[in-house]
Amino acid sequence: MRSKKLFINTMGCQMNVYDSGQIERRLAPLGFSTTETPNEADIIIVNTCAIRAKAEQKAFSFLGRLTPLKQKNPELIIGVGGCVAQQEGQRILSRMPQVDLVFGTQAIRRLPQTIQKISATRCRVVDVEMETTLSADDFSTSVPDSSEISDFVTIMRGCDNYCTYCVVPHVRGRESSRPPEEIITEIKKMVANGVREVTLLGQNVNSYGRKEGLCRFDQLLEMVNDVEGLERIRFTTSHPKDLSRELMAAFGSLDKLCPHIHLPVQSGSDRVLKRMNRRYTRDRYVENVERLRGVLPDIAITSDIIVGFPGETQEDLEATLDLIRNVEFDGLFAFIYSDRPNAPAVHFDHKIDESEKKARLQAVLSCQEQFTLQKNQALVGSVQKVLVEGFSKTVSGEQAAASRKDLTIGNQWSGRTGTNKIVHFTAAPSTDAPNQRLTGHTVEIMIERAMPHSLWGRPISTPIGTLGKGAQTHAA
Ligand code: SAM
Ligand code: SF4
Repeated sequence: MRSKKLFINTMGCQMNVYDSGQIERRLAPLGFSTTETPNEADIIIVNTCAIRAKAEQKAFSFLGRLTPLKQKNPELIIGVGGCVAQQEGQRILSRMPQVDLVFGTQAIRRLPQTIQKISATRCRVVDVEMETTLSADDFSTSVPDSSEISDFVTIMRGCDNYCTYCVVPHVRGRESSRPPEEIITEIKKMVANGVREVTLLGQNVNSYGRKEGLCRFDQLLEMVNDVEGLERIRFTTSHPKDLSRELMAAFGSLDKLCPHIHLPVQSGSDRVLKRMNRRYTRDRYVENVERLRGVLPDIAITSDIIVGFPGETQEDLEATLDLIRNVEFDGLFAFIYSDRPNAPAVHFDHKIDESEKKARLQAVLSCQEQFTLQKNQALVGSVQKVLVEGFSKTVSGEQAAASRKDLTIGNQWSGRTGTNKIVHFTAAPSTDAPNQRLTGHTVEIMIERAMPHSLWGRPISTPIGTLGKGAQTHAA
């Protein structure tokens, strides 16, 4: 008998990537294995994102394209999960006859029963119930075999911060944290399956455990640091208002904690920050940056900026550009403000014109460009420890130009520095399954070229070409 196939289209942030993994874990006991081809799937799940209007439109347009598949195979189950499902609920079923199931952000643990019910009765189901606290069975810790080197672990769900532009508290519910023991168990299983790097996920990891009286986030990091075989720890996201001295100190004391922090500032204007309900000032943000650099001078700092928030003036934009020049971020994600249902800013006056928002986005991106390149250029001539993520199959024009004539497609590798910068390098091909041998190892790379979004380097100290034959490696 043919095994049952599950196709998941994951949209949006890392939390959705983790949730899709949870969906796979929950459906595996029913005999479902994943496929990359929607045409051969028995269940298609669209794990949606509602953070901006564009993301939501993308989900609906993908669902629209599934209609012919459903017409061809009426037994196919189409499910919509994630933040749009939570936000829209029953409205999705009314609008899209091809959809069988709408399940919210807290309904994943109930999926096996829901799918069984739909298979048996061909009913249509909406499950968008939300709880204020976590139940013992909310997260599955049964980690399947995986070839991932780097993986995510959600340590808390929801958010209590209510930034006025943001839909997250409305679609992911109240903040609640998982017990540390459960998180450590899951990480240990991941490491046993070959994971070398974990990224701990939460909307505001700094308030981890506070409500439930669990340990502090820096204490959780200490426990994760003790997991044998794990090489690197990352986390996201850290809210500037709650960045503690203990967490800053952890960057100086925990050897596995990567020297990178994503610290979204959103705006450089105090007036806008207040209207966004961010609860910190620009000066406090800059102070935090200075303290972090005091602990670890080379720490990489990245951030998020929203342009065109209602009422943002030219002066406010100038304040943001000035902050970017002042902080010199390693990288920046800039977004055009988008009205979201349920988020208070949807009712704010003085909305900014779309073309003006686009111009402001461009101003922010051009301002940042030089700093991203400068930070990369500063690494030329240094030796970086790179955790190899895989064997590149394609080579971009940028990389090809940088590698000059020594590049042969098929022997190019990619990985990341602790500061989260992508590094490409070539290594002599080995006949003995080199991908399996080099992926997951930490290799010392002499950085030779800096490009706007990546680095190019040369492996040193180990004859990398012989790694595939079992020679000495730099793996931890
Ligand atoms: N919890 C994280 C924090 O506080 O930084 C952010 C989570 S959100 C998934 C990621 C980013 O999306 C935010 O930092 C913000 O810059 C952006 N964002 C959120 N709502 C937005 C909106 N309505 N319009 C545009 N960008 C938005
Ligand atoms: Fe949204 Fe603010 Fe919560 Fe981040 S902290 S998820 S931006 S409400």
